[in-house]
Amino acid sequence: MRIHRISLPLSNAFLICDRKNLLVDAGCRTDLSELVKQIENCGVRLKNLAGVVLTHVHFDHCGCASELRKAGVPVIASSQSRKSLSDGVQEGKTLLNKAPSFLRSSLQRTLPSAFPGVEVDVPVVDSLDLHDFGVDGRVAETPGHTEASLSVILANNAACVGDLLMGGVLGLPPAWKPAQHPSSADFIACLDQIQRLRKRGIESFYVGHGDVLEARHIDRWIANQSSHS
Ligand SMILES: [Zn+2]
Repeated sequence: MRIHRISLPLSNAFLICDRKNLLVDAGCRTDLSELVKQIENCGVRLKNLAGVVLTHVHFDHCGCASELRKAGVPVIASSQSRKSLSDGVQEGKTLLNKAPSFLRSSLQRTLPSAFPGVEVDVPVVDSLDLHDFGVDGRVAETPGHTEASLSVILANNAACVGDLLMGGVLGLPPAWKPAQHPSSADFIACLDQIQRLRKRGIESFYVGHGDVLEARHIDRWIANQSSHS
């Protein structure tokens, strides 16, 4: 199994190449050509994607899902998110709402905070074995960043966790350093899910923003968080 990081202007997507190819997350709506280009650079055509897993309903993770689905890629997402995805409406707190007011208006102008609505082909309830999608792993509910957030837990001790945590503050360096995502709905729940994943043996965390986070940095960060609370 190989996991390719697809680095987009605001977020990461990941291309998992196992028996088949699976995409995790779909960038902003403006990222389509770059997303397709990087997928093709990995030697994969859109028609050879077994599916796209959306970790959560934020504009920088679902932006191209509608176009991918039009190209024949099945959309895999939480069953709880069917309506918000169909309506093209973000869930929970958003970065925009948390931004200081002097930043908000310029962010509103520059960020495409809406995304085209998309139907869910494979709704996930609790957990989904990815065997039929050609990947040794599963999709699991990991609530915290949003109530319906999902992670892709892979057999090689890696997990794509969306925005459960991020590398660097707002993606700024040092991008290897774990941090809470500022728009997370529930920090405590995020921390709890991260600890559960560590107990299950996850060593590498593929996050929506910043670098891939390694266990030793995460463990130190968790210890610091606990000692401050
Ligand atoms: Zn998010």
